[in-house]
Amino acid sequence: METTTMPNWLKQRAYMTPERIALETAEESLTFLELHEEVLGRAGALGGLGIQKGDHIAILMGNSAEMVKIIHAVFYCGATAVLLNTRLTEEEWEYQFLDSKAKLIIASPEYYDRVPVNENKKLSLMDAVRLLQKPAVYEEEYDLNQTAVIMYTSGTTGKPKGVMQTFGNHYWSAVGSALNLGLHTEDKWLAAVPLFHISGLSILFRSVIYGMTVSLHERFDAESINQSIIHNKTSIISVVSTMLDGMLENLKECSYPKTFRCMLLGGGPAPASLLNQCKEKDIPVVQTYGMTETSSQFATLSMEDSLRKLGSAGKPLFPCQIKIVKESGDEAGTNEPGEIMVKGPNVMKGYWNRQEATARALENGWLHTGDIGRMDEDGFLYVLDRRSDLIISGGENIYPAEIESVLMEHPLVKEAGVTGVTDEKWGQVPYAFVVASENLTANELLHFSAKKLAKYKVPKGITFVSELPRNASRKLQRHVLKGMVQ
Ligand code: ATP
Ligand code: MG
Repeated sequence: METTTMPNWLKQRAYMTPERIALETAEESLTFLELHEEVLGRAGALGGLGIQKGDHIAILMGNSAEMVKIIHAVFYCGATAVLLNTRLTEEEWEYQFLDSKAKLIIASPEYYDRVPVNENKKLSLMDAVRLLQKPAVYEEEYDLNQTAVIMYTSGTTGKPKGVMQTFGNHYWSAVGSALNLGLHTEDKWLAAVPLFHISGLSILFRSVIYGMTVSLHERFDAESINQSIIHNKTSIISVVSTMLDGMLENLKECSYPKTFRCMLLGGGPAPASLLNQCKEKDIPVVQTYGMTETSSQFATLSMEDSLRKLGSAGKPLFPCQIKIVKESGDEAGTNEPGEIMVKGPNVMKGYWNRQEATARALENGWLHTGDIGRMDEDGFLYVLDRRSDLIISGGENIYPAEIESVLMEHPLVKEAGVTGVTDEKWGQVPYAFVVASENLTANELLHFSAKKLAKYKVPKGITFVSELPRNASRKLQRHVLKGMVQ
């Protein structure tokens, strides 16, 4: 018979290395044994409220030790955690709560009153903690095929879809990551990215699977994160490019100690100027490509290739495969762009309650990522852009991310967003929206980009704005830019 169960991860970890530090926050520090015991109390409370195996429980909380405890407690009950983004609107919370068919929503005090859900389906954290009791029974084993988490995609290209991530997906994601980055006994992974995103949640799973400390930050603050890296033995941190930008600005002339071994950069395109700055400062930046549907990293550049292949998202993790497929359905040749297709044990089971979308996305185990990329002659992946944002101009493909990256090389440009606008002659032409720090004229910037870009890629026009449209994950929404063109 096929074995598809493992011991409950946190319980097993508390048994194997009880004294090791599981979690550090500004207020407290917990060993794995202490964490397990705290989780038992919450699992008992949830059980007392009638939560059973197979139920869906929505969680609406910001990064905190309490959130970590609640997430594990949901697993101890055999239930599925539906993680809600705290930055969404009330309507969006309501939609995801109803769509996921959650039985209960657990919200922290700052959100509780704003949750538009029937009172008897809401549980405030204070109540959860007041109800603490040891459970009579809890899940001793995790079934790898069970959906551990339903997590909605960021909604960059459309309405967010609920991704079903199984325990098996998370297990293989953690193992794949370790086989790439290596495991050091002294590792401490700093999580300032939200736990309701796969970038943050995956750190919690790695923690229990590896026996590794998580240094949990409530929010991103460049100063306190740099202090943590410099003085508190952080060895790995997950960041997106805007965070890294802020950290470099704050770091000024200082440098990171040798104990810091990995700046894992993902979530979106990385501007070349940022990567070069890291190179100059000797910062061990490791680019990675992944999505909610792949339960975190899918491809990652290994340390030894980080300088040689600057700008690449690396090779697939050990258990994973990537192929690039052209519009025609044929596999692309070396350096030829096409859709990135991925297959591996960390790829989601499907979209919750979306049979059609699942059938479109998953084909014989291969996931259509909707992203365009190319593989170089050594098998390194370069992510070019999202398929839906591609600009086709006079038969040439233009990737907005490439133009944005060039615009951001200008010292006065803070942010840039590019979209395609209709043009009588070329079909479509690129148009840029820019946030600049000081007086900068469109002509100056056009002149600057003309030196670095082929003529057909130079934006047809530039509009300066005070901010760019971003979703609740702070990702650029290029389809909104389209409507801003006058
Ligand atoms: P939605 O699917 O709802 O439109 P989303 O795709 O932004 O939202 P996520 O799962 O959070 O939701 O993000 C995954 C996407 O982020 C990838 O499909 C890709 O477009 C982008 N991305 C991730 N890593 C990289 C990278 N290294 N380079 C370029 N893009 C990346
Ligand atoms: Mg997506």
